[in-house]
Amino acid sequence: MADIIRSIRGMNDILPDVTPYWQAVETALKEVLSGYGYQEIRFPIVEKTELFCRSIGEVTDIVEKEMYTFNDRNGDQLTLRPEGTAGCVRAAMQNGLLNQTQRLWYMGPMFRHERPQKGRYRQFHQIGVEAYGFNGPDIDAEMILMTARIWKKLGLTGATLQINSLGSTEARLAYRDVLVAYFENHKEQLDEDSQRRLSSNPLRILDSKNPAMQALNDAAPKLIDHLDDTSRQEFDTLCQSLDDAGLEYEVNPRLVRGLDYYGKTVFEWVTEHLGSQGTICAGGRYDGLVSQLGGKGATAIGFAIGIERLIALLETTDALPDIPSIDVYFVAVGEQAARQSLLLAEQLRDQVENLKLITHCGGGSFKNQFKRADRSGARWTLILGDDELSQQVVGVKTMATGEQETVAWDALASYLKL
Ligand code: ATP
Ligand code: MG
Repeated sequence: MADIIRSIRGMNDILPDVTPYWQAVETALKEVLSGYGYQEIRFPIVEKTELFCRSIGEVTDIVEKEMYTFNDRNGDQLTLRPEGTAGCVRAAMQNGLLNQTQRLWYMGPMFRHERPQKGRYRQFHQIGVEAYGFNGPDIDAEMILMTARIWKKLGLTGATLQINSLGSTEARLAYRDVLVAYFENHKEQLDEDSQRRLSSNPLRILDSKNPAMQALNDAAPKLIDHLDDTSRQEFDTLCQSLDDAGLEYEVNPRLVRGLDYYGKTVFEWVTEHLGSQGTICAGGRYDGLVSQLGGKGATAIGFAIGIERLIALLETTDALPDIPSIDVYFVAVGEQAARQSLLLAEQLRDQVENLKLITHCGGGSFKNQFKRADRSGARWTLILGDDELSQQVVGVKTMATGEQETVAWDALASYLKL
């Protein structure tokens, strides 16, 4: 085993004992999204590097140090998508979708070269949702209420909603000066990252996860106190809509989001159950991005859910969805019986809708086949040997009680519908 080829650090295999949970979560998500009229869009995993540099911003963690970038055989510089918003906007622009309003979602792997740890991987999965051409704040409220409905559908508890407004570009620029002045006055308390960000991206200092920066950040001037009138009004309306719906939230003035393209509404769902990787869903408004990428200005808002973290939270709160179990395990000993069991299995699948039936396959003694039947968790084991074959019956064992009955082949389907 020593020299088998192993997966890349931080890129995980998702094994069959876990994929049923992924499928259940994905199905629930899709149901809620389509219930709000959101449609799926699929776009490539690889894009030109430039797309991410221009949208996410040069001085963000992602572009500075997390992207998987390479030259392909033509010498073009390409990047594995670190997030979906940029590719989604690109696809919408390129295909003329921005001529009208759009409600879109996508799901799939994202790639970031981060330090792997629990809840932080180099390949991870997001479900992303984007809406184009809506000025808000009604759509902002819709999106946030939709996330709450997703949690409700999944039976997920233990996450709280934080919201903030980043205001207009002008308001943010003016606030930036106020903030820089404040941090300049306390320069000796800034950690290394924050010192660097002071000139490049000072708002990001507020987003620091370093506990030593907490007190300084808590006392910093708040962007929410420097909002332009329109943003202030829109934020108040958003809060009102959430109040109307009875959704609890916390206004977190330090919530600035890591990416450059956000303005006005930003929000996150955070939990204390997952250590420092506690954000399961994050999003906000990014009205400037389309024009930044050379398109006709369309307003935009979106969010992304980290599926690994979502499933981890379901697990720690004992709320993993039920996995449908196997109905029938079909045991058959002897060549003739094995062939007949395949045929009977096909007939049953025709007759009983959604039947989950495993035929043993591969031969072996009754004893060995029964062991497999036990392990499968099936509700019934069907048994076909030479005797049953000659009488055109099967033995049907109810696994929970151990009771066994003999059932004629043509009565099997109605027996299993019981
Ligand atoms: P964080 O602050 O945890 O680094 P982020 O702000 O970089 O998150 P976003 O770019 O907003 O994250 O991505 C949205 C969601 O995707 C996050 O809230 C999280 O649930 C998930 N996510 C982001 N990066 C990772 C990762 N490396 N591994 C697993 N999930 C991730
Ligand atoms: Mg990050």
